[in-house]
Amino acid sequence: MKSKVQKASPYWNPILETLPLEEMRKLQIKKFRRIVKWAYEKSRFHRKLYQEAGLKPGDIRSYDDIAKVPKVEKAMMRGIQRKDPFPYGDALCVPLEEVTEFRQTSGTTGVPVYQPDTWQDWEWWAEAWSYILYAQGYRNTDRVFLPFGYNIFVAFWAGHYAAEKLGCEVVPGGVLDTEARILKIQELRATAMMATPTYILGMADTAKKKLGIDPAKDLTIRKITCAGEPGASIPSTKQRMEEAWGAKVYDHVGATEIGAWGYECTAQSGGLHVNEALFLTQLEDVETGEIIEEPGRRGKVVITALDRMAQPCIRFDSKDVAEWSKDPCPCGRTFRVIKGGIAGRADDITKVKGVVLAPTAIEEVVRSIPDLANEFEVVVTKKGDLDDITLKIEILPQAEGKRDPLLAQLKDQLRLKTNLGYNIEVHPYNSLPRYEVKAKRFKDLRKHG
Ligand SMILES: [Zn+2]
Repeated sequence: MKSKVQKASPYWNPILETLPLEEMRKLQIKKFRRIVKWAYEKSRFHRKLYQEAGLKPGDIRSYDDIAKVPKVEKAMMRGIQRKDPFPYGDALCVPLEEVTEFRQTSGTTGVPVYQPDTWQDWEWWAEAWSYILYAQGYRNTDRVFLPFGYNIFVAFWAGHYAAEKLGCEVVPGGVLDTEARILKIQELRATAMMATPTYILGMADTAKKKLGIDPAKDLTIRKITCAGEPGASIPSTKQRMEEAWGAKVYDHVGATEIGAWGYECTAQSGGLHVNEALFLTQLEDVETGEIIEEPGRRGKVVITALDRMAQPCIRFDSKDVAEWSKDPCPCGRTFRVIKGGIAGRADDITKVKGVVLAPTAIEEVVRSIPDLANEFEVVVTKKGDLDDITLKIEILPQAEGKRDPLLAQLKDQLRLKTNLGYNIEVHPYNSLPRYEVKAKRFKDLRKHG
């Protein structure tokens, strides 16, 4: 019997999570000024950046002044790597002796970026994740299984520590293979889990086909926290996962260079709360750089981690695209909500045949048709001067008989939701690539030949 005391509040931090926005702004400006001053004094990289922009920490007095601070892009971080002090370079604000954590970005878009953290920063990571897990209903009665390869990527590391901080019992499913992980979940009657959407769907397939286990009936996982891909915020993918596992599936968003900055709560109101207490999150017009405060207008997410000290993240251009929700969340948190989660990557949202296309819209269509398998791939190429877009899919074996009406339905839905016509390629079941980490389903070959 567990005898730990249960927290009564529905919020991890009842004061900060319900603070009125004006109060929150005051706190954010105070913390923002502090982190800019810290970086200016301790990091050669930041001092040079700010001096070139003619900016001194004292120049930031109001919320509007924040936009004067130059943004930092991932490519700039790559530029400082491997310089002194090795291997992090001159954005490091603390002596090397104080660094206790090494992680690196997964480098799907190029050379990885190294990320140093002090022990204090690492505790901050765990605190950020505690907001997430507590809001998603994790309590000290939970036994949490992590089917995750513990390695140089931050992924669910901080989720592991946060679950411990909440008093959950944590089972590290590190080097086990998928079947062994499923059997361990069954054996221990684990109640919660964290993984990428692709892996969660793949695990359910493996359980059914290889082990004869139906996760929804035979396993006790009742909540799942997702990361790494937008799937948990795409309604049809979320529904597939929830049905396969008989569990609530929640999204969260974060990045190695930033931290875990947003999360869905148990109200599942169709968006992600931004953690306003630990991060300053702004949406910026892609063309003009104007800060977007009003709902319904998409912009680029620019984030500051207000309390992360070793290698500060100040006005980091995340390349994520999002919009504010106009409705407050019924959970009572005053942390603002990003509607529908991250709409896509600024790099992935592209024009095809003159139409603006977000790859998440294709996923929403494919996953909403039950007779199609979970895997798909999109390839954009050029035929002469014209864009050409191909969607590769798999049909479930039991639905092969209705291939023609199925493809007609798919084409209709795609045209309706994305305003584009596609070449559809049907691939044999189980032949498209399966992904354990981040799926790369959208391939734009126009730029790279
Ligand atoms: Zn909420």
